[in-house]
Amino acid sequence: MSGHTDMVLVDEKGMRIDGRTAEQHRPIKIEAGVLNNADGSAYVEIGKNKVLAAVYGPRECHPRHLQDPTKAIVQCKYNMQAFSVSDRKRPGPDRRSIEISKIISEALEKVVLTELYPRASIDVYIEILQANAGTRCAGLTAASVALADAGIPMRDIVPAIAAGKADGHVLLDLNKEEDNFGQADVPIAIVPSTDEIVLLQMDGNMTREEFDHAIEMAVGACHEVYDLQKDALKRRYSKVQKEVSGDEQ
Ligand code: UDP
Repeated sequence: MSGHTDMVLVDEKGMRIDGRTAEQHRPIKIEAGVLNNADGSAYVEIGKNKVLAAVYGPRECHPRHLQDPTKAIVQCKYNMQAFSVSDRKRPGPDRRSIEISKIISEALEKVVLTELYPRASIDVYIEILQANAGTRCAGLTAASVALADAGIPMRDIVPAIAAGKADGHVLLDLNKEEDNFGQADVPIAIVPSTDEIVLLQMDGNMTREEFDHAIEMAVGACHEVYDLQKDALKRRYSKVQKEVSGDEQ
């Protein structure tokens, strides 16, 4: 987020370097139930981001001192693979991945019916296989599909996407160049049934008007992501139904 570059991020026709208009998100692909050994799983691509989420639980909470006698806790571990970025990333947790794990856990705790499972833990693993800006949103989008795939009772599923600002334009779903050389990045996640915001961060600067526009665009796009999440779960369950009825080998 330097804000200074000779690179033209938005041309005079309002076209972005990957051919999108300001209000377009990158192509999105969502698959539910991609791993056999986890209780639930999902795979998400958004542009060049490739993200896998796996869920275990509800199960006994470790470490035990984190147990809450009134509800389950959601423990998310966001991890960026060493090969996910062009400069090899040093493996293991760092400040950024600890922060992202925390904000994703908090967003998910808003929708999971944690009160049904006192003392338990619902463990969510997010692996970033390929990163191109927007991985926390792709990770959260994948994690909520994986939770639903695991059959965890939830009020709703959580879609997430970022908006931001580059070359003075408010843009939806920043790519890596726009994120690196733009002026602001605002990831957001909502509960679609109520439009409640469960994740909102901001890196950089924008005016109040630009911020309102960014939020409006991102909330609108979250509803599109939501439709794709539901679609992935429907495809998953029609496949399961066929397997159960013996129509598919
Ligand atoms: N990134 C990187 N190395 C790192 C962390 C991030 O190359 O150690 C890149 C990666 O492409 C990531 C982007 O910078 O998607 C933006 O990172 P940010 O912290 O804004 O999070 P994100 O947008 O992925 O949620």
